[in-house]
Amino acid sequence: MPEEEVPVLIVGGSLVGLTTAMLLGHHGVASLSVERHAGTAIHPRAGHFQLRAMELLRQLGLENRVREKSLETYSPTGGIVAVESLAGRELATYVKELNEGVEGFSNTVRVFINQDVLEPILREKATELGANVVYRTEVTELVEDADGVTATLEDLETHRTRQVRAQYVVAADGNRSPTRQRLNIAMEGYGELSRSITIYFKADCAPLLKDRNQGVLYVHNPKLRGFFRLDRTGKTGFLVINSVGEDVTKPEAINVSDGLTDERVHDFLTTAIGTDEIPAEVLHVAHWRAEANVAARMQAGRIFLAGDAAHVVPPNGGYGGNTGVQDARNLAWKLAAVVKHEAGPELLDTYDEERRPLCRLTVDQAYTRYATRVVPERGTADAKPFVDDLTMEIGLVMRSRAVIADGSIPAGADHIPPAELRGQPGTRAPHVALGPDRSTLDLFGRELVLLSADNATNLPVRAHTIDAPGFTDAYGITERGAALVRPDGIVAWRSPGHFDAAELDGALATILAKH
Ligand SMILES: Cc1cc2nc3c(=O)[nH]c(=O)nc-3n(C[C@H](O)[C@H](O)[C@H](O)COP(=O)(O)OP(=O)(O)OC[C@H]3O[C@@H](n4cnc5c(N)ncnc54)[C@H](O)[C@@H]3O)c2cc1C
Repeated sequence: MPEEEVPVLIVGGSLVGLTTAMLLGHHGVASLSVERHAGTAIHPRAGHFQLRAMELLRQLGLENRVREKSLETYSPTGGIVAVESLAGRELATYVKELNEGVEGFSNTVRVFINQDVLEPILREKATELGANVVYRTEVTELVEDADGVTATLEDLETHRTRQVRAQYVVAADGNRSPTRQRLNIAMEGYGELSRSITIYFKADCAPLLKDRNQGVLYVHNPKLRGFFRLDRTGKTGFLVINSVGEDVTKPEAINVSDGLTDERVHDFLTTAIGTDEIPAEVLHVAHWRAEANVAARMQAGRIFLAGDAAHVVPPNGGYGGNTGVQDARNLAWKLAAVVKHEAGPELLDTYDEERRPLCRLTVDQAYTRYATRVVPERGTADAKPFVDDLTMEIGLVMRSRAVIADGSIPAGADHIPPAELRGQPGTRAPHVALGPDRSTLDLFGRELVLLSADNATNLPVRAHTIDAPGFTDAYGITERGAALVRPDGIVAWRSPGHFDAAELDGALATILAKH
């Protein structure tokens, strides 16, 4: 007999597991997150959080705290440049300033914050909202039947096992996802790109940074290619190395990891810094494989894959963690609605339907950035045309029965340039300023809401009357129209002109799979 019952079990308590737990808590649904490590992340890893991730954190009341923490480590305006070495020439500017061009599109900003700093904030919020997070515990088995899933958990200290019964399981168990492997779900894509390393170190590089507006510094020289992320003091950070040697078309060039010695690590670090006059202390070396793949399915019955378990990208572009956060955001409100009997279980099928094509697009775009920025000599013929960062953040298109398309998006389009976003169903509901520090985006997060310029009453959902310049134009509606926005900030339905309550009822029934 299972010793415990929980609506949602989350395998993995890292970035995506904690985000899922926090969002379920926000929707009033209890969860149990099981993590085999002793605590939250110990390495910085994901460091670049995009607009949609920050918009989500703002909805949860965490924006200011995250921005304050970010400032302790990073400049808010860091850019992305390529250099020969820290002491050497600047070769290219990929992004002049982190938030260049985003003004007017959002109520928040992109930030650099390390995963080891962010995760404790997420955990605190998740537990405050009722989530239970257990450490040094492993999920060793998941058995699904018609009514739920029975999970076996092993306490890694005592080796005692226990069983937990859950209605649904979210596998946020990372790129080697034991859950995905047990379910025999294949990964598809570009395969392994390199055996890379990350060198965590201390060295006073400040004098070399000059007035360089640094966020990410790609290093490109005959000995190695990779990137630095240094904190704002310039005295500590990490160096990722993706390839070594001048001829990166050689197979050994992309295997940085095998046969690595301490001496080689120091040599790489000195080369990337560009001088041996600055003493450097290596704190830790992590070995990892850069891959660009997406799971063939993100759902198997009552089990859902989220985060790196469902897609792995090279770090170029900073898509890994951000994509996982959006998986959690798409899935959490749907799970909550089904668990609370506000929606039919078919709503859950829209998770894979909506997310997988976008995860594939993201994998393609991360690969394009890797292929063109890191190892262009290996060929870029298989890289898809570049889609700019802002479009990748806020211009993605979702298609499923939880979105009632109105023909406003060209057939087959999976992204739309931000300047053309007008609240088309399936896209992110636009930001419209409602006051000095208030936005339409602040109205989303908990439930489906209706926005209109008209004072609509007697409606089956929470309705907001918006009296702000540019609102109707931004949402592609007239004074008598309305837009229905999902808790994940996606426009689900829109009526450009007058509508009646029956129309809205019908849309809601379809979106929530209520029969
Ligand atoms: C050098 C580097 C730089 C990066 N930079 C960025 C960036 O700038 N922006 C960005 O968005 N992303 C970045 N990423 C990627 C980002 O770190 C990952 O995408 C992110 O950590 C994925 O989170 P996750 O929760 O899905 O998986 P993970 O962080 O891998 O967590 C999975 C967790 O599941 C646990 N687990 C696994 N199996 C079990 C089990 N059976 N029982 C219990 N627990 C289990 C593991 O212990 C682990 O803690 C970077 C990665 C690297 C390596």
